[in-house]
Amino acid sequence: MKYESTRGASPTIGFTDAMLAGLATDGGLYVPKSWAPLPAERSSNYASLAAEIVSLYAGGELSEDEIRRLCDQAYSTFRHGAVVPLVQYDQDAWLLELFHGPTLAFKDVALQLLGQMFDLVLAKKSQRLTIVGATSGDTGSAAIDGVRNCSNIDIVILYPRGRVSDVQRRQMTTVESANVHTVAIDGTFDDCQDLVKAMFNDAPFRERHNLSAVNSINWVRVMAQVVYYIHACDSLGGQPISFSVPTGNFGNVLAGWIAKQMGAPIDRLIVGSNSNDILTRFFDTQKMTATSVTPTLSPSMDIQVSSNFERLLFEMNNRDGGATAEQLARFRQTGTLAVEPDQYAKWIAPVFAAASVDDAGTLDVMARMHKECNMLVDPHTAVGIGATEKCRREGETVVTLATAHPAKFPDAVRKATGEHPQLPDHLADLFQLPERTVQLPNDLAAVQSFVASVGTSG
Ligand SMILES: *Cc1c(COP(=O)(O)O)cnc(C)c1O
Repeated sequence: MKYESTRGASPTIGFTDAMLAGLATDGGLYVPKSWAPLPAERSSNYASLAAEIVSLYAGGELSEDEIRRLCDQAYSTFRHGAVVPLVQYDQDAWLLELFHGPTLAFKDVALQLLGQMFDLVLAKKSQRLTIVGATSGDTGSAAIDGVRNCSNIDIVILYPRGRVSDVQRRQMTTVESANVHTVAIDGTFDDCQDLVKAMFNDAPFRERHNLSAVNSINWVRVMAQVVYYIHACDSLGGQPISFSVPTGNFGNVLAGWIAKQMGAPIDRLIVGSNSNDILTRFFDTQKMTATSVTPTLSPSMDIQVSSNFERLLFEMNNRDGGATAEQLARFRQTGTLAVEPDQYAKWIAPVFAAASVDDAGTLDVMARMHKECNMLVDPHTAVGIGATEKCRREGETVVTLATAHPAKFPDAVRKATGEHPQLPDHLADLFQLPERTVQLPNDLAAVQSFVASVGTSG
């Protein structure tokens, strides 16, 4: 399988190069040249199914044996035998629990695999690299856990000091591995992101230290997420079902759309937003207009622009990268992206629905799930359930993706239900472990000199 950029001005490359690059040189995102059709015979075991799907996209560059081993390793870190169990909470209404991985958020599903895959490819090339990233909470801990045992990778994660939750910070700072480095920046999440961008834009620095990123624009993350949509469809017997997805960067729901292109029996995709509702407004008005970000109870969905939407836009432009690049350039200039009515009618209207749920609505869903179903759900999952309630049609089976464990957001859970959610056993000592972190000012030179010191000290 070959990969092309959504902006059409980068050469076509293979799977491992697309994985190592993350972003294309023209600023676009990599997509496979075509969507692979699903094999008629599929495994019901999660790791085996993952290997079957990964083979469709990575085959030729990694052997079947290697892929099998990577998937087995990645999903053996999950605490549930089913890896991503389906739980019914109402007639025709299910939760797909994606939070049984090491850091309690769905990002583990992709990052456990990506870490292993990076390490294998680097070992074969006798290369080392340094992953640099910024986090507002969930991505940092999932990325760290994905590479903590990798011998060819150092990781440096910047987070805004005092602005991530205690659980989120401790999940990053208590990891003992020598290749893991966390940096508390005196600034906001946007400052952290700007520092990371500045390091990537400094080409000599980037090349000298072999920097890489694992943010959700990496194709491998989207690919790994396609698997659980197919697994859920197969588990529910193959009748058409819809999914409701609490959405931020659009990576998760895009994976569902790809599963549908591959032939999975998916009816509709419901996009759930919190009050940062740029996507909901797009689906209502056919125009995307960026505004500022409001902090909410579901911080991993507090985004201004959903970066993975570009992959769908490319498809809506009939895979014309030049047209996609122009549309995005206009969006940056004017703050508004409008799609043509025929594009909307063909690609969006038949498949997508959207609803936004504000903080009051989120707490209300959490309280009702507790009272009526005796279940604690996290605020992101609650947004998904709220969107299901708003969009579901008579008789439609809807699977809502449960993207985080309630114990990751104990304050919101307590506020909604009066209950304190227990951390799973493997994290029970999280508040006893010593923390290790470096504190730096919001200053590029200081951060660069820290990153430079990391690769050499190993
Ligand atoms: C990252 C995240 C999301 C948003 O996922 P996208 O792929 O960015 O749309 C939703 N919920 C939780 C808990 C997350 O960590």
